[in-house]
Amino acid sequence: MRKPMVAGNWKMHGTRAAAKSLLESISQGAAKLSDVDVVVLPSFVHLALAEELLSHTNVAWGAQNLYLGESGAFTGEVSGLMLKEYGCEYVLVGHSERRHVFHEGLALVADKLKAALAANLTPILCLGETLAQRENGETEAVVAEQLTTAMAAVGIKAFEKVVLAYEPVWAIGTGLTASPEQAQAVHAFIRQKIAQQDVALADTRRILYGGSVKADNASGLFSMSDIDGALVGGASLDPKSFLAICQAAS
Ligand code: PEP
Repeated sequence: MRKPMVAGNWKMHGTRAAAKSLLESISQGAAKLSDVDVVVLPSFVHLALAEELLSHTNVAWGAQNLYLGESGAFTGEVSGLMLKEYGCEYVLVGHSERRHVFHEGLALVADKLKAALAANLTPILCLGETLAQRENGETEAVVAEQLTTAMAAVGIKAFEKVVLAYEPVWAIGTGLTASPEQAQAVHAFIRQKIAQQDVALADTRRILYGGSVKADNASGLFSMSDIDGALVGGASLDPKSFLAICQAAS
């Protein structure tokens, strides 16, 4: 039985005051939820606040990105070791905005996955195709390449610690959502790809769906057998919506 997870990706949003209020509302609301893992992913500058307000609550926190190694001459970057110091448990790796806006290729994403695991963080590895790739019938090939590169880099055993997120790029921040059936088909494909290397492990891996998840479409997505929760962008900035999604998953 896989415990559902709902993670909120705040992206580059939130003043300090807004982040404080959001963290407080989410931790209060999540106190009533026991059978879902609730995670928030604020910007780096709000991680100290997350640690201060979320320690001893049932909400975990993490970062949206990391760089390689523990320290070094990498201006503007943050290491996994630094994230651990602020109590981070999770880190996003390979989010489509990192892949497409910041041009992170397969090799860098694989190295970041390694770096996250080396720092004892739980990576949330994001996979997904663009609209053009979907329309060309390339969804499975694209997702398979993203997944197999990552698996080859760290080895299948290390995937024991990896959470996956299927996020079709065309559905992120666009208001378009994959239908539950469209999402389920790709989730099942991802699980089957992992099963080709380790059947038992594939059954335990959580695969979140991301792409315009809202309170009113969450239940339909969560009713699918291979959808184990959500990675939520826009709706995670509104505590009511985010908590309603968490409630739907629990
Ligand atoms: C995301 O940023 O991972 C995401 C899924 O965003 P949104 O929910 O806004 O589409």
